[in-house]
Amino acid sequence: EQAALRAYIDQPSVDRDGHHVEIAGNIGRPDDAEVVRANGGDGVGLFRTEFLYMDRNDFPSEEEQYIAYKTVLEKMEGRKTVVRTLDIGGDKELSYLTLPEEMNPFLGYRAIRLCLEERSLFRVQLRALLRASIHGDLKIMFPMIATLDEFRTAKNFLMEVKAELIEEGFEVSDDIEVGMMVEIPSAAVIADLFAKEADFLSIGTNDLIQYTLAADRMNEKVSYLYQPYHPAILRLVKNVIDAAHANGKWVGMCGEMAGDEIAIPILLGFGLDEFSMSASSILHARAQISKLSKAEMTKHIDHILTLTTSADIENYVIENLL
Ligand code: PEP
Ligand code: MG
Repeated sequence: EQAALRAYIDQPSVDRDGHHVEIAGNIGRPDDAEVVRANGGDGVGLFRTEFLYMDRNDFPSEEEQYIAYKTVLEKMEGRKTVVRTLDIGGDKELSYLTLPEEMNPFLGYRAIRLCLEERSLFRVQLRALLRASIHGDLKIMFPMIATLDEFRTAKNFLMEVKAELIEEGFEVSDDIEVGMMVEIPSAAVIADLFAKEADFLSIGTNDLIQYTLAADRMNEKVSYLYQPYHPAILRLVKNVIDAAHANGKWVGMCGEMAGDEIAIPILLGFGLDEFSMSASSILHARAQISKLSKAEMTKHIDHILTLTTSADIENYVIENLL
């Protein structure tokens, strides 16, 4: 099977009818970009930058971060590279940043909430990203956006930092798309409002599922509620995709669901533009999509949306679409 999959390495990511999608990789370290390329990835759909900050004793400097982002962009050789700004807090702690203890870390002070409060920390990362932007096709996205105000504030701050850099004489790319993760239900519900202001949306199902079903993604006692095919999740995902397209924006998914063979036919049918997953899943996803037809999925989608439980939806896909 491995050998058969290797045949897809230089193939375009298209369905049976030639409908194009992007199959990208999720990375955590600069070297992972090579693994994405070795697996034929069309780009990087999610660079989780918190790894630059972890397992060390102090914040990474602007120069250090600049090198890391430049390295990834160069390894991707002009292919789309989506870098997510710092998503620290919650389950991801830093030894050198003491944060108050929280009752509900997943609902607390983290990610964009922390970055908008700790502007000096955020500025260093944005400066490094903007400086690296000239080395490839950089897209920047903000994590854990719940309100339009957060997105606007983050984007305005990014523009401010860009102006500072230009003032200082640095070269900065002029066409950096600025998007956001849709991983909080409030954002998924008002995706139409976000899609007017963001250049792209990327659905983070790992968090979207835990928040929508109120089931901690790390808690085994409630893992039975962590249901990617729950009708509520499918409706939210469809809403986000439709909202993006109605506003002429592209939409990706960078949660685990994007590489899941049960979810892939449904996501293709919904019209998802970019599937970002662990590098090891890329070829399998490309092979699977090559055998499906987006156009033909429409009638399956109509039926799937009438099904009432996650199990019914899973069974329908297994029986009809795998
Ligand atoms: C997500 O929430 O789906 C996501 C991609 O981000 P992370 O897993 O890093 O929270
Ligand atoms: Mg997340």
